[in-house]
Amino acid sequence: MIIQLSKSISGDQRKHLCDVLTQNKYNLTDVKTQAENYLVCIGKKEIDIRTIGNMAGVKDVHIVSDDYKLVSRKWKVHNTTIDLGDGVSIGGNDISIMAGPCSVESDEQMQTIVEHLIKNKIRIMRGGVFKPRSSPYAFRGAGVEGLKMMYSLCAPHGIKIITEVMQVSQIEEMMPYVDIFQVGARNSQNFNLLDALGEVDKPVLIKRGISGTIEELLHSAEYVFSKGNEKLLLCERGIRTFETAYRNTFDINAIQVLKEKSHLPVIADPSHGVGIRNYVSKLALASIISGADGVIYEVHEKPEEALSDGQQTLNFLESEQLVDKINKLLLSDICS
Ligand code: PEP
Ligand code: MN
Repeated sequence: MIIQLSKSISGDQRKHLCDVLTQNKYNLTDVKTQAENYLVCIGKKEIDIRTIGNMAGVKDVHIVSDDYKLVSRKWKVHNTTIDLGDGVSIGGNDISIMAGPCSVESDEQMQTIVEHLIKNKIRIMRGGVFKPRSSPYAFRGAGVEGLKMMYSLCAPHGIKIITEVMQVSQIEEMMPYVDIFQVGARNSQNFNLLDALGEVDKPVLIKRGISGTIEELLHSAEYVFSKGNEKLLLCERGIRTFETAYRNTFDINAIQVLKEKSHLPVIADPSHGVGIRNYVSKLALASIISGADGVIYEVHEKPEEALSDGQQTLNFLESEQLVDKINKLLLSDICS
């Protein structure tokens, strides 16, 4: 059960409410987000929610049968939208496009990509500066200096930044330069990191774990929400299966399932989802038809020279053609 508390609830009203709930053997978790105050109540006992709903200081009460509560669709009919400022928002009627290199490499590289984004009216740049790499000898990212450089090129054009945070200690120094923190597949169940991101007032995109289930992804989002941050995005980025013909199995089923189970925006990452450049654009389009609120993909002027993930990175022409097709798709009635 989720109880939404009114902002003006008094100490006595809260105590009385909590007493009634604990007498009914509920375990209570206080959740205070940027927007609302909630009481998440976990218990087995049936309770007539009208008695709770009528109590002073209670704004609304919802029964949620799912194990994850706050991210569940069951209590929130409307889709969550996330406002990044400067007219950029995610999760409304528009499709969000987030594009950029796998890794931030150099000033020149980033300059060309910024120009490409401006030309194609792409408002969100992706680019990793802390890179989780399978080999310790591979390029591991340009660090905070790379992020500052990215910010100095993007901010003057109102281009928003999504970038991966790998550990709690990085959050503070990254904060001024980030619009969306990305939790990578390998960190999808790093619960300390998720807890810490619950305390920041910036949106967080959580990728599905490498072998993560949909339910596990929703629970990861619940961690962040229950610590106080409801600006969340879910990301399908492919999972590891027995198939070896491509890097990951892009689980397009997950998009509709996530949309049905949660009110949070769902973003598709076909670049990591398949890992092969030629297949990325069609999967991006298929994701949008399946109901994704946006796509995130890798683009580079010369993918063959990229320091990471070049094999799945679109070149500028391919990216331009993809944006064009997305725009045509949105004008058609295919997605409705
Ligand atoms: C990335 O976005 O470059 C990345 C490393 O993603 P993932 O965590 O999905 O592998
Ligand atoms: Mn990558």
